[in-house]
Amino acid sequence: MQLDDLYRRVIMDHYKNPRNRGTLSEEAVTVHLNNPTCGDRIQLQLELEEGIVKQARFTGEGCSISLSSASMMTEAVRGKTFDQAIEMAEKFSSLMKGESVEFEDYEDLEALSGVNKFPARIKCATLAWNALRKGIESKS
Ligand code: ZN
Repeated sequence: MQLDDLYRRVIMDHYKNPRNRGTLSEEAVTVHLNNPTCGDRIQLQLELEEGIVKQARFTGEGCSISLSSASMMTEAVRGKTFDQAIEMAEKFSSLMKGESVEFEDYEDLEALSGVNKFPARIKCATLAWNALRKGIESKS
């Protein structure tokens, strides 16, 4: 898989130094999702209060794309309202369709733009975002 060098560095940084890896208290909303085609597994925990994503943490195992995406997602949505977080998930879907999208608040996400050229990997990149949607939908 050939990605732009700068983008690859951002992805590998998140993969090697994941942000928000870990767990939250038992009251947190917990979502488990798998991507069987690649073997990625994620547990996402969300602290959802008063319509805001207060905290997001994840554990799991998988490829560099799935884990770096989870790391970026948890950083990007923290402090956002449910609507803002879902809007970001929509934007990320557009990015995966090859549309040109900018993430003003969290540019690291754009490093995953090259994944759209590798259809088999799109499910890796969207796994964490699907978990986010599921978690927010369970509360709204
Ligand atoms: Zn994967």
